[in-house]
Amino acid sequence: MDPETLMQCPYDKNHKIRACRFPYHLVKCRQNNQSVAKQLVTCPYNARHRIPKEQFNLHIETCEHKVSIEPYGGKRMIYFNWSNC
Ligand SMILES: [Zn+2]
Ligand SMILES: [Zn+2]
Repeated sequence: MDPETLMQCPYDKNHKIRACRFPYHLVKCRQNNQSVAKQLVTCPYNARHRIPKEQFNLHIETCEHKVSIEPYGGKRMIYFNWSNC
C-alpha cells in the first residue's frame, strides 16, 4: 500500500491519516476514544481495520484484504502487511 494513502480513522470520521502513520494514530486515538474503542473489533485479515461490532460480519465478507490470505503448506496463513516507513 502507498504510505501516502489517506485512511479514515475508525474512532473519528473527521480524522484522515496517512497509511504509514495509521498504526500510531490508532494507538493514540484509541486512548482518547475508549468508549468507541470498546465497540470496535479488529479485522482478522488486516490488523489496521477496526470495525464496529454490528458491521463485523459484513466486513469479513467484503474486506479488501481477504485476498491476502493464501494457502501455504496446507495451512492458511494471514499476512499483516504493515508498511515500513
Ligand atoms: Zn483518530
Ligand atoms: Zn478488514
